[in-house]
Order: sequence, then structure tokens, then C-alpha cells
Amino acid sequence: MSKKTVEDVSFQGKTALVRVDYNVPMKDGVVVDDTRIVSTLPTLRYILDDGGKIVLCSHMGRPKGEPKPEVSLAPVAEKLAELLSEAVLFADDDTVTGKKAQRVAEQLKNGQARLMLLQNTRYRAEETKNAGEYAKELASFADIFVNDAFGTAHRVHSSNVGVCDYLEGVLGFLMEKEVRTLSKAIDDPVRPVAAILGGAKVSDKIGIITHLIEKVDKILIGGAMAFTFLRAQGYETGISKVEEDKLDLAKDILKKAEQKGMRFLLPRDVKAAKAFEDTAEYVVREIDKIGADEMGLDIGPKTIKMFVEELKDIKTVVWNGPMGVFEFDHFAEGTLKIAQALASSDCFSIVGGGDSAAAVKKLGCEKEISHVSTGGGASLEYLEGKELPGIAAVSDK
Ligand code: ADP
Ligand code: MG
Repeated sequence: MSKKTVEDVSFQGKTALVRVDYNVPMKDGVVVDDTRIVSTLPTLRYILDDGGKIVLCSHMGRPKGEPKPEVSLAPVAEKLAELLSEAVLFADDDTVTGKKAQRVAEQLKNGQARLMLLQNTRYRAEETKNAGEYAKELASFADIFVNDAFGTAHRVHSSNVGVCDYLEGVLGFLMEKEVRTLSKAIDDPVRPVAAILGGAKVSDKIGIITHLIEKVDKILIGGAMAFTFLRAQGYETGISKVEEDKLDLAKDILKKAEQKGMRFLLPRDVKAAKAFEDTAEYVVREIDKIGADEMGLDIGPKTIKMFVEELKDIKTVVWNGPMGVFEFDHFAEGTLKIAQALASSDCFSIVGGGDSAAAVKKLGCEKEISHVSTGGGASLEYLEGKELPGIAAVSDK
């Protein structure tokens, strides 16, 4: 069902409570990466141009329900003002919605500025519990609610779900793009569509595998996850990461793929090392030749070639999970080569998952992917086919 966005309502003469994700990296009280702030500017400018005022709210870090100066949003207000070339009032209120914040809201009403930022929503314990009167207090600052924080869309918190009990909610441009792009790739893709899955554990991704196996035409498996499947097929995998308690599950998944007649591809070779280290010496091993004291840390050259070949006729790719330990230079090649293959094809590609997005960024291939989701956990839950509460809570069109 499609949801209302900022374009479906009027902000003229209204104040909007805008939930953003300003959980930005900080060092010594200074914002070191303003990407997340910059990415909200289109929504903010749209509301201002439409004649609205803005009360912003966000969490930062995990202050666990009490004021913690190191995660105060004060430096964020400064950065935002600089980026917008416009005053942003900061409500330096340890209770977030108390008297101090209300006085700043008066200044907003009086026309001293068009924007204000509330203190870190997680200074209050009710935030993550969506409990008590907190959502009502947040809502009291505004006439309408705009959710532009995809990163918390899978959470039921006061500042994204609770507030919708008191205000009409709509999506901002960032959220709208995430929802539109993910739903297109998963529920209405141009076929054939492939899923590339990797990363740390099968157990983290059971929901994703069982959902995507019903949606896609082909599944390519890399990362540590591959070893649980390979073991389930009877291969000796040395000291590679294997989840012994998930072998039966892996067998079930393999059987299901076979019944469906779909291509479910596992690595043919790996880069194997004796230690989990950045500069570990490695050898390329065929999948039936992994030594008892070796672990696979990346997919090997034959596998890369096979995966690239398998992706040639593919029109849509959904990717979660790095192909290897991309954090180590020796074991980043598999992930890099797959990203490059996507770049040189005309397919539509999306990447979801926190570490997967980090991998694509670290390897400098973000531009080669059509859409890298900004929400780690939220994108994973979306790939599992779950409804995201932060999206469900806003108004339907
Ligand atoms: P995401 O956060 O995108 O869902 P995951 O958390 O599932 O991704 O997986 C990312 C992690 O998987 C990375 O830290 C990476 O080092 C690790 N990984 C990938 N391949 C292997 C491997 N062969 N052995 C051990 N760890 C691996
Ligand atoms: Mg992860």
C-alpha cells in the first residue's frame, strides 16, 4: 500500500515535527561525517519552501534514557545551520520536551527562526519503549509529523511510531525513496532477478533466505555463510566458520531450492588461510581441498568468474552480505569484483545491510550500485518481508 509523502500535504502555516537520522559520527564534539545531515536537506527545504516551520528530532548513540553530553545534538544543530545557511535553534533540554524546549518553540512561533532541533530523543527512557506520555509531548510541538529516518523504521519508538497516535504522519523524501526502491526490487522486479547473499551467519539471515527464495530466480551464496551450506553438502571445511546447529536448516534450504528448480550457487573455490588476520598468507583451494587447519576467508577466482557469468543476464540484483572478510585487504577481492560486475551491467542493483553498505563504501564502489540502503537493520527486515512499523504508522494515500 502506498503511503502519503510530504508532497501529499500542505505545510503552509504549519509546524512539522520531522524525525531524522542524525546519528552521525562525532569526534571531540565535532561532526566528522555530515552525509546523513546533507541527505535530509531536500525534505527540509521542501517543507520550508511550502511555508512550514520545522521541529527536528533524532537520536544519537545509546544514552540509555539519560542525558549524556557526549551524545548531545548541539554540534549537529550548528552543522545543519551551516549547511542550510539559516539559523537552527537548539533546544538544550535534558528532558527533551520540557520547559527549556518549550521556550525555544516560542521563539520559533515568534518568527525568530524557521527551524529548531530537539535534544537527543534517547535522553528519555520512554523513547525506545514507546511508553508513557513522551510521544504526546513530542507531538505537542507540531501540527503534522514527517518521518525521514529509515534507519529506525524497524523500531517501535515514541519518536517514529508513538507520535502518529497524535499527529498525521507522512514520509520524507529519503524514506519514500527507500520504500519505493526496495519494494520495486523485491515485489515487482524486472526479471530475471538474483539474490547475492553472504556475510557472517546463516542464523542471522534465515528470514531473508526463506523470503527471497520465493521471490528470486537465482541465489548466489558467498561469505562465511557458504561454509554451513558446503558442510551440509558433506564437504570438509576445515576451521571455516560453520554453524553446526544450522546444518539441518541448510539442508532444508538446499532441498527447497532443488524442488523449485532454481539455481542456488555455492563457491567452487576459496581463499583459505590459517589465521583470521589482515595480512594472513592465503592459498586458493578448491572446495574439496580445504585443509583441516585452514579457513575460507573470501571466495576464490573460479567462484568470482562463475558468479560474474551467472549475473550476466540478470536484470535485478538484491545483495546482502559481503563475499569475504572485506575488512582485510587480502580478502576483499570477491566483494569488490562482484560490485564491479554489477557496475558494468545494466541491471538494477540494491544493497542492504549495515556491513554490506560499509563494504561497498570502503571499497569505493558505492556509485556502481543503483541503491545502497541507508538503513542497516531496517533494510534487513525489509528483505525478510516484514512490515516496518515506522512506515506502517504513517498515513496511507
Ligand atoms: P550485514 O551487516 O550487511 O547484514 P553481516 O553482518 O551478515 O552483513 O556480515 C558481515 C561480516 O561477515 C563482515 O564483518 C565480514 O568480515 C564477515 N565475513 C564475510 N565472509 C566471511 C568469512 N568467509 N569468514 C568470516 N567472516 C566473514
Ligand atoms: Mg552486520
